[in-house]
Amino acid sequence: MIILKSPREIGLMRAGGQILAEAMERLRDLVKPGVSTLEIDREVEEFIRSRGAKPAFKGYRGFPATICTSINEEVVHGIPSAHRRVKEGDIISLDLGCIVDGYYADCAITMAIGELPPRVQELLTVTEEGLERAIAECRPNRRLGDVSHAVQSHVECHGFSVVRAFVGHGIGQVLHEDPQVPNFGEPGRGPLLKPGMVLAVEPMVTMGSWEVRILEDRWTAVTEDGSLAAHFEHTVAITEDGPEVLTRLDGGRGSGAP
Ligand code: MG
Repeated sequence: MIILKSPREIGLMRAGGQILAEAMERLRDLVKPGVSTLEIDREVEEFIRSRGAKPAFKGYRGFPATICTSINEEVVHGIPSAHRRVKEGDIISLDLGCIVDGYYADCAITMAIGELPPRVQELLTVTEEGLERAIAECRPNRRLGDVSHAVQSHVECHGFSVVRAFVGHGIGQVLHEDPQVPNFGEPGRGPLLKPGMVLAVEPMVTMGSWEVRILEDRWTAVTEDGSLAAHFEHTVAITEDGPEVLTRLDGGRGSGAP
């Protein structure tokens, strides 16, 4: 069942979203060669708590940290570690969530550490563009399949693949609510989008095959073929006027690709 949110509820999710957006800004300075993924985690946890919010992922089904840190062929759900340091040429996906007064917000970004080969930079660019195109579909009278198709068509026309095993999701008083938001699908299919729906839209894109497997830590998802992967995510409210990106600093009204 898809739960519609009131303006008050969306306001709480916006408050959480702004905290995450600010945390992301701080990470742009912190995430440099030599920093450990645990140091990044500590920084984000301290910041989220300093703003009176709670980390959303810590303890979620036993996840041990505040953020997910997934490097290179790791797609999602990497566990921060004092022994894992980022280095020049890496790409690192950072997934952040927080709770304000019982309501969740969720976002992710993939950052380049230094210079990347052009095709790897293109992976990041195309994944983020896929997210923007999907956000542009988050408006009344579109269908969920339009959101999914926006990602898939953009990604595949650039020769990349979308992961099937993980999908975006509705979000509210629970981190993962209905509906599932796949990054693949047919336009014009699925539930009709309505004002008050809030979706975490999150393309996960690889340079090779879309197949993934889970490491022995039972969390980290890596590409089966070892190819690099990128992940971008925003929490998006559907309003009468179109998408409002709750996890973007300016509120994100009217943004998104054409
Ligand atoms: Mg999510």
